[in-house]
This record gives sequence, structure tokens and C-alpha cells, in this order.
Amino acid sequence: MGSQKEDFTGRFLKYVGKPLSRSVSLRDYSHFKIGGAADYFFKAAVNKELVNAVRLAREDSIPFYIIGGGYNLLFDDDGFRGLIIKNEIKRIRRRNKREVEVSAGTPLDDLIRFTVEKSLSGMEFMAGIPGTVGGAVFGNAGAFERSIGDLLQEATLLDKKGMQVVVDRNHFQFRYRHSVLKKKHDVLLSAVFGLGEGKKEEIKALIDRNLEKRKEKHPPYDLACAGSYFKNPVLPDGRKVPAAYFLERVGAKKMKKGGAAVYPLHANFIINREKASAQDVLHLAQELKNRVKERFDIDLEEEVIFLPAEPLVF
Ligand SMILES: Cc1cc2nc3c(=O)[nH]c(=O)nc-3n(C[C@H](O)[C@H](O)[C@H](O)COP(=O)(O)OP(=O)(O)OC[C@H]3O[C@@H](n4cnc5c(N)ncnc54)[C@H](O)[C@@H]3O)c2cc1C
Repeated sequence: MGSQKEDFTGRFLKYVGKPLSRSVSLRDYSHFKIGGAADYFFKAAVNKELVNAVRLAREDSIPFYIIGGGYNLLFDDDGFRGLIIKNEIKRIRRRNKREVEVSAGTPLDDLIRFTVEKSLSGMEFMAGIPGTVGGAVFGNAGAFERSIGDLLQEATLLDKKGMQVVVDRNHFQFRYRHSVLKKKHDVLLSAVFGLGEGKKEEIKALIDRNLEKRKEKHPPYDLACAGSYFKNPVLPDGRKVPAAYFLERVGAKKMKKGGAAVYPLHANFIINREKASAQDVLHLAQELKNRVKERFDIDLEEEVIFLPAEPLVF
């Protein structure tokens, strides 16, 4: 493996045109502030770099993983045996009166600001959700009963063969916190969102109201966590009930494991209280799941994504 690694670093420089970083601590790239070192790390600033980095990793059978803002991720204490590519490609362009085309590395904040500037309505519910467009489409992020998939018209993906393909909304099989990207490991390069023409003041006012509502429910942004830990379960009668409802009733708010703890004001947030390890978080999450299963016979499913150091398929 040693010489293959040497080859990969050298080949990367030739093929991508920029050097790879080695042994990079992932805790600095996760809002959870947890994680060991990745063997290789690269920040892609333009499309060509991202595309070539992915193609080369596939060609050399080096496991790779794309990250955006790291707001929904839990990295392993042992880091990652492969290449982490941080997508920093930011571009927003108005395609026509009602459509904007956005690169996947664009922060959602930038996109929201753009829609306000251009008096485009429809994105207001996404205000305050941290992260990039890529992460949001991957997990069909949303709030207030709406999700980003509702607005997506088409997208450009880099598929497993290294080809750039244009797909429409149906391709993504969007449902609650799910898209086909979770199964296929294609890379989202850009997305086109359909919006409406609105009044700037009204758009701004709605965003402000949404941000106020979020403040009441969510922990402050500087708290180390990765958002809601579990998805809200759907009951057999079709009702979606907040995971926090069940978690509160099994005493979650008082639970801790090592440096990880449940946020005392919201039972569905696990926080890195003090130097938590990924193992602390995983043990605490398992204990929460066990208790909810035992008391309510409900299987909670993680919304936060754990990336194991030794990935299975890429
Ligand atoms: C305080 C807080 C509040 C939050 N509130 C909400 C909320 O209200 N609603 C909500 O839905 N989420 C919420 N989240 C979770 C998080 O903000 C979203 O999941 C967000 O979409 C993550 O984006 P990201 O760029 O940080 O993705 P990352 O965490 O970097 O990555 C998440 C996943 O997306 C994949 N991915 C990223 N970019 C690409 C790409 N270009 N192509 C293919 N796959 C890609 C990664 O491989 C990874 O599997 C919250 C998180 C925090 C910390």
C-alpha cells in the first residue's frame, strides 16, 4: 500500500494540478468537532479539480468521500483511510426569471441572500439551515414541513463512470431526509431550483420569522453538534411524530456518555460537551435507541451520518 500511496500523491498533483494534504484532522471540518485524521485531504475550488480528483480516486481504487460544511457528519475517531474532498465550489447564477443554478459547494446562506437580493421567493424555509447545497440535496434537508427537493428542477451529477449527467427531480426519489444520492454515491455538481417572483420586503420578513422560530427550538449555532440526531419516526397510522417526544419520555435530557451529552433543552440533539469521542456519541445514541425501542417499540433512525474510518463501498 505504501508505494501505491506515493504514486497516488504524485499522480494527484499531475492529474489535478494541486497537491494533496496528508494526515489532516477531520475534527476541524465537522461541526461536531470530533474525528481523527484522514490519510488524504483536498479542497476543490473549481469544477475541474473536483471532477478530476474523483476520477483519479476511482481509477486508483482510493476510497473517497465528499463533504460540504460538515454540519451533518460524525467522523470516526480513527479518521478516514482514503481521500476526503471538501467541496468549496461556490457559484450562483440566475438562469432565467424563475430559476437559479447553484454549484453544490455554495453555502445555503449565500443562496438565501441571493434570493433576497433578486426578490425570488420559495427558499425562505431553508433560512438558518447550516451547510452547502450539496449536503442539503443529499439529505433532502428542510424545515417547517418543506424540503429542498420540493424546489429542485434539475441537477448535474458526476456518476460512477466519471461522466457528467443532467437529471431531473424524479431521479432523486426525494422523501423525508432522503435522496437517491444516499444509495448511489454519485457526486452532485450543481442544481437548478425553481422559485417564484416575490416582494423583497415580504421575503425578508418571512425569513426573519422563520429564524425567530428556529431560535426557540434549536441550540445556539456555536454548540458542537450535527443537528437533529434522529429522524422523526412515522407511525403505522402515517403520523410523523417528533423523535424528541419519545426521547424526552425515556429520560434522554439527563443522559451523558463520556464527553457527549443530550442537549438539556432539546432531547433530539447530541452535543459534544467536552472532548467527546465518536465512540461516546455512538454509545449514547445506541442507548437512546434501545430505550425508545423498549418503551415504545419504535426503531429510531439516525439523521446524522457516521463515516467509518474503513469505508465499505465507494
Ligand atoms: C445547528 C444545526 C441545525 C440544523 N438544522 C437543520 C434543519 O433544520 N433541517 C435539516 O434538514 N438539517 C439541519 N441540520 C443538518 C445540516 O445542516 C444539513 O444536513 C445540511 O444539509 C448539511 O450540509 P453540509 O454541507 O454541511 O453537508 P455535510 O455534513 O458536509 O455532508 C452531509 C452528507 O452530504 C454528502 N454530500 C455533501 N456534498 C455532496 C455533493 N456535492 N454530492 C454528493 N454528496 C454530498 C456528504 O457526503 C455527506 O454524506 C442542522 C445542523 C446543525 C448543526
